[in-house]
Order: sequence, then C-alpha cells, then structure tokens
Amino acid sequence: MTSVALPEPNQAQLAVYTVAAILIAAILVVAIAARSRRLLSGYRFGPDVVVRCRDGHLFTTTWIPMASVKSIRLGPLVRYQYCPVGQHMALVTLMKDSDLTPSERLAARRFHDGGVP
Ligand SMILES: [Zn+2]
Repeated sequence: MTSVALPEPNQAQLAVYTVAAILIAAILVVAIAARSRRLLSGYRFGPDVVVRCRDGHLFTTTWIPMASVKSIRLGPLVRYQYCPVGQHMALVTLMKDSDLTPSERLAARRFHDGGVP
C-alpha cells in the first residue's frame, strides 16, 4: 500500500482559510435571517391569531414559532391541527391581518381552539 503525502498548509494559508470560512458562514447567517424576516413580515404571533384551514374555515389559535403541543409544525406558516369550525384535522395556514376583511376577522373570533400552542 502506498500513500501520497500531501503538502502541509502553512500558517498563512490556514489563516486565510479560517477567515474565508468565517466570512461565508456570516454571509449565510445574514442571508437566512433576511429571508426569514421577509417571509414572516406582516404575520402576528402569539395568542388569538387568525388561521385558515384547508377547507377555508377561519378560526383563532395560539401560534408561537418553534413551539407546538397540539399541532404538527410543517414550516413557519403551516401546521396540521384540529379545526374547531369543521371539527376535523386539517392543514392550517397563518393569515396576515392585512389580508382579512373585517367580517372574516369577526368570523374567526367566533371559534378558538384553546390557549395551548
Ligand atoms: Zn376546517
């Protein structure tokens, strides 16, 4: 068995590689944060947020990012959970308040699925 000896990088090359890796990581973190901020802008989180199920039912729920007990998170804006309007399990989507009409907001407030996220 033969082995090929690779040349050892010197200290200056290691420093350049380290700085380049740190810069690339920082750029990725900033890009991901900016994309997340853009994606989630206009949405409200916490208690009593309006969601719409796949069948079009509107209701309010508690939506806390990265926390869910009664639902399965399928991304930052979609969950699989119980819909109290249709009394079924469904995909529900978080709604922007600006996308709702006053009558839709009123209809959504008639049904709440509880205070547990
Ligand atoms: Zn429904």
